[in-house]
Amino acid sequence: MSLKDDLASAPRKKSGPRCATCDWFAALSDADKAAFDEYISEEGFNRAQLYRVISEKWGFPSCDSSLKYHLVNHHGSR
Ligand SMILES: [Zn+2]
Repeated sequence: MSLKDDLASAPRKKSGPRCATCDWFAALSDADKAAFDEYISEEGFNRAQLYRVISEKWGFPSCDSSLKYHLVNHHGSR
């Protein structure tokens, strides 16, 4: 079998690994989602502070870099 055949028969993933921040965000109430969106939409919002608050008090399960990645790639923000 050629590499080409092996690659062609390998199962394709529809998407990358699940984003912990997306999962966390999806579990928030609508009011909390709105508050999160409002915060990150502010000019010059402080991501480090956001991270500290949500990880200490809101059960955010992941690291700051995951939050950053999410904000840039999934949340339509910076
Ligand atoms: Zn995400």
